[in-house]
Amino acid sequence: MKIQESDAKSLLLARGLPVPAWTVARTPAAARQAAEAILAGGEDKVVIKALVLVGGRGKAGGVKLAGSADEAEQVADAILGMNIKGITVQKVLVAAAADIVKEFYLAAVLDRKSQRIILMGSAEGGMDIEEVAATRPEAIIREAAHPHLGLLPWQARRLVFGMGLGAHLKDAVRIATGLVETMLVNDADLVEINPLAIIREAGPDGSPVERLVCLDAKVTLDDSALGRHPDLAGMRDLDEEDPTDRIAREQGISFIKLDGNIGCMVNGAGLAMTTMDLVKQAGGAPANFLDIGGGARSDKVAAAMALILSDPKVEAILVNIFGGIARGDEVARGLVEARKEQARSVPMVVRIVGTNAEAAAQILQAEKVATAASLDEAVSMAVAAARASAGGAA
Ligand code: GDP
Ligand code: MN
Repeated sequence: MKIQESDAKSLLLARGLPVPAWTVARTPAAARQAAEAILAGGEDKVVIKALVLVGGRGKAGGVKLAGSADEAEQVADAILGMNIKGITVQKVLVAAAADIVKEFYLAAVLDRKSQRIILMGSAEGGMDIEEVAATRPEAIIREAAHPHLGLLPWQARRLVFGMGLGAHLKDAVRIATGLVETMLVNDADLVEINPLAIIREAGPDGSPVERLVCLDAKVTLDDSALGRHPDLAGMRDLDEEDPTDRIAREQGISFIKLDGNIGCMVNGAGLAMTTMDLVKQAGGAPANFLDIGGGARSDKVAAAMALILSDPKVEAILVNIFGGIARGDEVARGLVEARKEQARSVPMVVRIVGTNAEAAAQILQAEKVATAASLDEAVSMAVAAARASAGGAA
């Protein structure tokens, strides 16, 4: 699960890391108010950033500076509603603009191969790190954290010196170890600071001092670990969640959209994968992976049908249910109900075996739903139906 910069920054703050204060605004007026407060505090500029769950907001025009409350309101008005990589901006982050001396890159990532948290740092921050990795891999310093002890002090120092941050050794070491802590404490997959910046600001006596701060933050959390973090589940940004993903999550259905035209409704992840393989083998293309989960009550069947049909590419539906705990007759009844409510008519082939399969067949045949005795037969019927309706539409 991706979380917004504002939430990512609160996780860093909770570890005591240096993050400049910010406000989230949903309207130009609210952005203006936030800017007024910042400017009244003696700052000469504010930064306004689009809060969307994609990278490269700066390049897309979603990060702008403003020197007055009026300008802040205008800039916020321009950014709110902007479309960045397909997402409409619904809120902005407002903060005092930092006077940046130099930008660095620092991230804790999960390396599946070595099964460790790896810290990656570079003096070439701010820009696309993928590009640095591709063109100048030697410009990226790596340190693997110890599985139990985290990033050891000498490793943190080696990383920090390698990044050319020796002048800020103490703060940089604290930040590097803090990123690993943030990963572990929150079960995160990624904690990325780009840029980690040396900024210039007025010191206690008014003369300029330099300080290291986390200017941007990107955190992704392990969905499977969210059960252990009820507080973090609230960071899910419903503004940006795809409606089909939300329905699937609320119904406990595993749903992944694919490119084909045969919608699949299956119970059990393994059976769903097998069904997709067989569809492919028979010359068809699955439109989705869908595991309806245990029980498969009729409301779930209806929700699964709606998810499948929300994809306009779907030309046929293949239902493959192995009745164990799920009762075939209940699934069949759910299918019949869902067919009555569906917005468009798409051929459907059903194979139900196991618990109450005979009752299921009776219900389906009474409603003239195509049924198949074997999975192979069901698959070839679905592939043929998809071909026929694709041909008819053309
Ligand atoms: P991203 O493009 O989505 O990664 O958004 P960032 O927050 O990283 O901002 C992109 C770029 O905008 C940064 O690399 C900085 O160069 C610039 N930027 C962001 N915040 C500030 C700020 O407070 N002051 C100044 N001068 N530039 C900033
Ligand atoms: Mn960034």
